[in-house]
Amino acid sequence: MMTAALPDTMRAMVLQRPGEPLRLAHRPLPRPGPGQLLLKVEACGVCRTDLHLVDGELPDPRLPIVPGHEIVGRVVAQGTAVTGFAAGQRVGVPWLGWTCGRCRFCTGGRENLCDAARFTGYQIDGGYADYTVADARFCFPLADGAALEQAPLLCAGLIGYRALRLAGAARRVGIYGFGAAAHIVAQVLRHQQRPFYAFTRPGDSGSQDFARHLGAAWVGDAGQLPPERLDAALIFAPAGALVPAALRHVDKGGCVVCAGIHMSDIPAFPYADLWGERMIRSVANLTRQDGIDFLDLAPRVPVRTAVTAFRLEDANLALDALRRGDVQGAAVLEMS
Ligand SMILES: [Zn+2]
Ligand SMILES: [Zn+2]
Repeated sequence: MMTAALPDTMRAMVLQRPGEPLRLAHRPLPRPGPGQLLLKVEACGVCRTDLHLVDGELPDPRLPIVPGHEIVGRVVAQGTAVTGFAAGQRVGVPWLGWTCGRCRFCTGGRENLCDAARFTGYQIDGGYADYTVADARFCFPLADGAALEQAPLLCAGLIGYRALRLAGAARRVGIYGFGAAAHIVAQVLRHQQRPFYAFTRPGDSGSQDFARHLGAAWVGDAGQLPPERLDAALIFAPAGALVPAALRHVDKGGCVVCAGIHMSDIPAFPYADLWGERMIRSVANLTRQDGIDFLDLAPRVPVRTAVTAFRLEDANLALDALRRGDVQGAAVLEMS
C-alpha cells in the first residue's frame, strides 16, 4: 500500500568502499517488502560506529551501503503483513535490523547476539537518505516531538542504557569518553541519584565543562585519579588503553564495560588489577526489550539530548567533526 504523492527518487549518502568519503546519490525510492515500513526520514544520528564503518574498521559491510542507524521518520507506506503501525506515525529505527528468531541466542532472550543478525546501516541500507525501509518488528513507536533530539536516543541512548544495565547496581560510575552516549547516560545516572565521574581526553575542557554542566561528581583527564574508587566504569571511547586504566580505579567486585563496537588493542596489565572479582566485559548491540525499556525511561528522566545538526549532503563533514572530537553531544543529519 503506497500513499499518494511520493517522489520516484531520493537522495542518499552512499559508502562505496571503506576509506572513501560518502557520495551523494539519487536512487529510486525503495519499496516496502512484506513486513516492512517505508519511512520518510526526518533525522538520522551520526554514530561513532558509522565512523568505524567508513574507516574500514568493521568486517564485511554490505557494499555499497547507506549508513545510519539512529533513524527518526514517519510511516509513509507499509508492506503486506505489517501490524500495529499507522500512516504518518513517528517511528525510530535502531541498529538491530533483523534477527533469525531461531538460534539459541534469539530464543534465549539475547537476540543482540544472534548468529545471523543484520544491522541497519551496515548490512541493511540505513538513514543517511530521504527515505528508508525497515522491518516493522524492529521499529519503535516514538512520540511526536523534535526528531533531531530523538535521533541520538536510538543508538547512543540504547547502547548507553544497555552498558549501564550491564554495570548492575553500581553506585559510583566512571564514564570514559564524554560523547553522545555518555551525555545521555549521565542524565539517567543523575535521575537515579548515582554519582558519575567523567574522564575525557587530556585537556578537553569543552567536554569537561559539558560533563560538569550535566552534574558530574568529578571531572578529569583519563589518566587522572578519581577521588573515590568506582563501582563500575563505562568506556565509550575506542581506546583500548582505557581498559586497564579504568580497571585500576574500579573497586573489588566492580565492572569495566566496553560499549564500543571497535576498540584498539588492550595493553597487558598485571593480574592483580583484575583480582578481587573485578570484571571486564563488552556490550554488543541491543535487544528490542532494551529499546522498549529505554524509550519508556527517557521521557521520565527526562533525557534532553544536545545535538549539532548537519544537512544530509554534509554527512562527511559530520563524520569529520566526530573524528576530530569536535561534537558536543551528538551529531545528527536533518533531512529537508
Ligand atoms: Zn538468531
Ligand atoms: Zn550506533
